[in-house]
Amino acid sequence: MEQTRIVVLGGGYSGMMAARRLAHNLRGQQVQITLVNAAPHFVQRVRLHQLAAEQKPEAFSLRDALQPHGIRFMQAKVTRIDPQVQALTVQTAAGSQTLAYDYLIYALGSYVDMSVIPGLREHALSLATEATAAQLRDQLPTFAGRGGRLVICGGGLTGIEAATEFAEAYPGLKVTLLTRDTFGAQLSRKGRDYTRQVFKRLGIEIRDQLAIQAITADAIEYEGGSMAYDACLWAGAFTVPPLARESGLKVNTLGQIITDDRLRSVTDSHIYAIGDSADISAAIGTPIRMACATALPMGVHVANELADRLKGREHRPYEFMYYFRCISLGRKAGLVQMVDPNDAPKESILTGRVGAAFKEMICKYTTWQVRHPRWTFLPRRPASERTARETAVVGVR
Ligand SMILES: Cc1cc2nc3c(=O)[nH]c(=O)nc-3n(C[C@H](O)[C@H](O)[C@H](O)COP(=O)(O)OP(=O)(O)OC[C@H]3O[C@@H](n4cnc5c(N)ncnc54)[C@H](O)[C@@H]3O)c2cc1C
Repeated sequence: MEQTRIVVLGGGYSGMMAARRLAHNLRGQQVQITLVNAAPHFVQRVRLHQLAAEQKPEAFSLRDALQPHGIRFMQAKVTRIDPQVQALTVQTAAGSQTLAYDYLIYALGSYVDMSVIPGLREHALSLATEATAAQLRDQLPTFAGRGGRLVICGGGLTGIEAATEFAEAYPGLKVTLLTRDTFGAQLSRKGRDYTRQVFKRLGIEIRDQLAIQAITADAIEYEGGSMAYDACLWAGAFTVPPLARESGLKVNTLGQIITDDRLRSVTDSHIYAIGDSADISAAIGTPIRMACATALPMGVHVANELADRLKGREHRPYEFMYYFRCISLGRKAGLVQMVDPNDAPKESILTGRVGAAFKEMICKYTTWQVRHPRWTFLPRRPASERTARETAVVGVR
C-alpha cells in the first residue's frame, strides 16, 4: 500500500507540535511524516532575550525529538514550493533536492523586517532569530562595561521584555526604550502603571510617541530630534517569509497564508498553514496575534484535523480564545495581564515575583507541550458564546 507523504515545514512551536501530534494520531497508518527545518535544534524563541542576556535556554536536537516517533527529520532550507505538482525544493548541505508531498503543513514562523527604515539593516540588531540574539549577547558586555547606551526601538511586548532583561542583567548599561505609540498601549491602566514602576526601578528611560525615521552609525533620528547610541535593538513588528506569496498561495498584505476555518490554504486544500505564517482570523472571526500562545493550539488542531481527514472523518472548525498575556520584566518580576476572549486587556493583573514565576511556568510548559503533544489544552470558547460567534461568522461569509 502506498504511504501518504506529509511534509511539515518549520520545526518551531507550531511545526513541532503538528508533527509530533500527527505521528501520535496516525500511529499504525500508512503515512510518512517528514519535518524540514533550517537549524538542527529547537529554538525557544520566547526566550531569545534571555539568550541575549547570557542565559542558556535549553535547545534540544530535532532529530532526537522526532526520530523515535517515526518522523523523518531533514535539516534544510526550503527555497520553493510548487503546489501544482505537490513538490518542494530544499537546500541541504549536500545540495538542492526535490521533495514530493501529498499534504503540506506550512509553519515557517516569522522574522523582523530590517528594511522598514533606512540604516536599520546596517546599524541595528534584532531578537527575531537565534543568530541575531547571539550577536547582541556578544556585544552587550562590552557596551555595559563602559557605561554605554542601549536604545531599544519598539514598545511592544518584545521591546518591554528586552529592556527589563538587559537593564537587570547589565546594571552598567543605560537603557532607553523609544516607541511610536503610547507606552504600554496594549496593557490595562494597572498593567501599564506597574510596568512603568519596574522601568523606574531598573533605571530605564521611556521616550514614547516618537516616530523613528532613520538610523545612522551613531544616532537614531526621529521626527524633531535624534539620540546617540552605542547599541540599537530594533524590536519592531514581525513579518513572514515571502515563500508563500512566491508560491502563488493567497496571502494577506504581510504575506501570511490566508486559511479557511480548518487552517487549509484557501488556494490549495492540500496545504495547511499554522503559527505566525498563517492568517485564519477572517475565517473564525477572532483576531490572531503572532505568538507562541496561538502557534501551539494551531499545531494541535492541524494534527487532529488532518488525521481525521485521512481517516475519512469530518473534524470541527478551529476555535480560539485568549485568557492572558505573560510578560517577563527581568528575572525578578513579571506581569500577567488578563485579557478578554478577543485579547483586549482587562483591569486584572498578577505582578512581582508571582508574575515572574507564572511566566516562567508558562515558558517551561510551551517546551514541555512540544515534547508531550498528547497532553495539550485547546483554548476553546464556552459553548454559549461559541453559538453566538459562529452565527456571526456565518453572517460575515
Ligand atoms: C524575544 C521574543 C519573545 C517572545 N515572547 C513571546 C511570549 O512571551 N509569548 C508568546 O506567545 N510569544 C512570544 N514570542 C513570539 C513567538 O516566539 C512566536 O510567535 C512563535 O515562535 C511562532 O511559532 P511558529 O511555529 O509560527 O514559528 P517559529 O517558532 O519561529 O518556528 C519557525 C521555524 O521555521 C524555520 N524556518 C523558517 N524559514 C525556513 C526555511 N525557509 N526553511 C527551513 N526552515 C525555516 C525556523 O528556523 C524556525 O525553526 C516571542 C518572540 C520573540 C522573538
